[in-house]
Amino acid sequence: MSNPEWKSVGNGHLEGPVPVPDLDPSKLIITRSESLKPIPKPEDLLVFGTIKTDHMLIVSFDPATGWSAPEIKPYGPLSLDPASSCFQYASNLFEGLKAYVGPDGVPRLFRPEKNMARMARSAERLALPPFNPDALLELIKKLVIVDKRWIPNATGYSLYLRPTIIGTRSGPYFRNGTKPISLLASTENVRAWPGGTGSHKLSGNYSPGFLPQRVAIKQGYDQILWLLKDENGSYQVTEAGIMNIFVVVSREDGDLDLITPPLDGTILAGVTRDSVLALANAHTDGKLVLPGIPSNRRLHTHERAFTTADIDHWLTLGRLQEMFSVGTAAILAPVGRVGIKDLKGDIKDLILPSYEDGIGPLSHAMLQMILAIQEGRENFEGWSVRCE
Ligand SMILES: *Cc1c(COP(=O)(O)O)cnc(C)c1O
Repeated sequence: MSNPEWKSVGNGHLEGPVPVPDLDPSKLIITRSESLKPIPKPEDLLVFGTIKTDHMLIVSFDPATGWSAPEIKPYGPLSLDPASSCFQYASNLFEGLKAYVGPDGVPRLFRPEKNMARMARSAERLALPPFNPDALLELIKKLVIVDKRWIPNATGYSLYLRPTIIGTRSGPYFRNGTKPISLLASTENVRAWPGGTGSHKLSGNYSPGFLPQRVAIKQGYDQILWLLKDENGSYQVTEAGIMNIFVVVSREDGDLDLITPPLDGTILAGVTRDSVLALANAHTDGKLVLPGIPSNRRLHTHERAFTTADIDHWLTLGRLQEMFSVGTAAILAPVGRVGIKDLKGDIKDLILPSYEDGIGPLSHAMLQMILAIQEGRENFEGWSVRCE
């Protein structure tokens, strides 16, 4: 992290000029395997992908020093930090192409520049480091030459190559603190959709959000507000970054509505989300008193859809009191500003009511109550589980 031109853009990402050095085939180091494996007969190669060649090509990337000297070395397992982002967030991509041998005995690839260009596009989409596709092709050719004896010399047979990039850094993380965060509502990217996997904590749901998140930070926002277009063309609010979202809306009878989107398959069923709903209900039912909230203050919880237009409307009416996102990492983050695209495509900032210490009364009460239960200072329904 010593390169001063690279700066943190949040979520564990660094950004700067195109990394120097880029991939450099002239720096290739080849270490040949000392125990070459026997080559199976083509007719024994019945199951695709079960037999591996003798060598692999490896290059690593560091934001401060760029791409390392490429290495061709004996094929074998990798050793990785268990906190590598590839394990939790599936910050991975791959290509698939084949090598063939010609009548002249020279190995060949079929339109490999297409695979290299696609790989570079995949890397950009996942916010993985850029590379020179021509340089990677040069290196892959070198690997094919080193492992040439593995290309079956029979028609219909080939050597399958699987270029792969995996994210080995950790992140994204979430800064703690009660300073209100800003959200950029995304109409371009979607986190989860009906029939998808958004309600599960699956790795594959996360890395596609890295690039939108980076763009949001560049535009001066902390997180993405994920939306889903409904049948009426309105944008339903789903989640904020990788946290669930709540709004606090005052009612005509003086009570408060506490609203969060329903678990319709596009929302992750957060433990914190569930806890906030349960604590609000417990307060209203007189089972506990949330700190700083009058015991006769009724909180009506709703798991129902609301849209960005609703947020705008409630603000205009002066009814939107608080908005906050929740999740285990930060527990609760108050939202101070939401950037929403208007019909012309310009971003219009919706400003939420501000509070003296940055956090509204209900947000503060929830945060304090959850912390007190987590730290064993308060007891509620066996939520705090002792390890003994
Ligand atoms: C983990 C997660 C949450 C929060 O869940 P908690 O159980 O409260 O930590 C919310 N949204 C998404 C997308 C998540 O991955």
